[in-house]
Amino acid sequence: MKAAIVTLPGDGIGVEVVAEGVKVLEAIGHVYSHTFTFQECLIGGAAIDAAGDPLPEATLAACQAADAVLLGAVGGPKWSDPSAQVRPEQGLLGLRKGLGLYANLRPVRIYPELREASPLKPERLQGVDLVVVRELTGGIYFGPRQEATDAAPVAFDTMLYSADEVRRIARKAFELARLRRGKLTSVDKANVLASSRLWRRVVTEIGHEYPDVALDHMLVDSAAMHLMRRPADFDVLVMENMFGDILTDEASMLAGSMGMLASASIGEGTNGVYEPIHGSAPDIAGKGIANPLATILSAALLLRYSLGLEAEAQAVESAVTAVVTSGVRTPDIAGPGVTPISTAKMGDEVLAAL
Ligand code: NAD
Repeated sequence: MKAAIVTLPGDGIGVEVVAEGVKVLEAIGHVYSHTFTFQECLIGGAAIDAAGDPLPEATLAACQAADAVLLGAVGGPKWSDPSAQVRPEQGLLGLRKGLGLYANLRPVRIYPELREASPLKPERLQGVDLVVVRELTGGIYFGPRQEATDAAPVAFDTMLYSADEVRRIARKAFELARLRRGKLTSVDKANVLASSRLWRRVVTEIGHEYPDVALDHMLVDSAAMHLMRRPADFDVLVMENMFGDILTDEASMLAGSMGMLASASIGEGTNGVYEPIHGSAPDIAGKGIANPLATILSAALLLRYSLGLEAEAQAVESAVTAVVTSGVRTPDIAGPGVTPISTAKMGDEVLAAL
């Protein structure tokens, strides 16, 4: 098949890890006789520096015309002045909104060999295999807000959802649960928030269309606790934007490192944005030691969800498993006594396994 892929390296380690993701996609194209073309565009801080805009029009247009987008990360100390009018994250939020990507899928799988990298006791991690489905274009990150000023030192943000927004994300989550172990946990704060009471009512209604999926509801504070206490009990979790932002970072610790977790942002069509869940990691940027596996696993999700290439996606995932099993490690997942390898070397190891 032919596919046009836009790459958005962004800032910090984004540049380093996307290079490895592209290497793997090129290899897949070669091995399976697909023609993938790559177009690199600007986003985030790099785009602010070059064009004064975290999401230049040309970037959004290229992404809209593409079959899929592979993204690194945005942000860094250079652009982190809270009073700045333009900020790198606006590029990400604008891209998600501009492409209508309302569902963010974040699989959390534990590699038995990496159990020691997690701060949790190894026995708690036995059998952990879950996916968080996070609503991505609504909620408190997009609702009406007011910034505080010196004259009026009061600020607010608004968590706003319509029934339609809840319905479409709920359907994505039920469909996914149906393809997995048939369990869906809907996370909310219905004891306090009106938007959560709507969320719970609508998810329950949609649940009647999926009698084969066992639905339960959990308050977000309780979910935060159970994710650490009994993570293997979860299959698919669905939640609003900010709850998902927070709980997926928490869930990343099950896997031991932010450098292992991939994500897919999708909407109604096949186009999507695929990115590691981590940020630009300014503390290690430019050193060539970032773990590229989250980005490589994101490339696998790109093959699966946007290009419909399941065998190719599985080939990438199996190659990552083989590499992790073989014991090679970047510093973030290297235990005591292990000599870590570089970002580029890790990419080469995945290529060799492919
Ligand atoms: P971060 O995810 O960048 O880093 C957190 C910690 O994890 C750091 O110690 C970092 O070194 C480590 N880490 C992250 N990814 C790694 C990898 N692939 N390999 C090895 N170690 C890795 O989060 P942060 O430090 O809170 O944020 C840094 C910047 O990134 C901020 O500007 C923030 O706004 C931005 N950010 C961007 C995104 C995104 O682009 N989607 C997400 C989160 C944070």
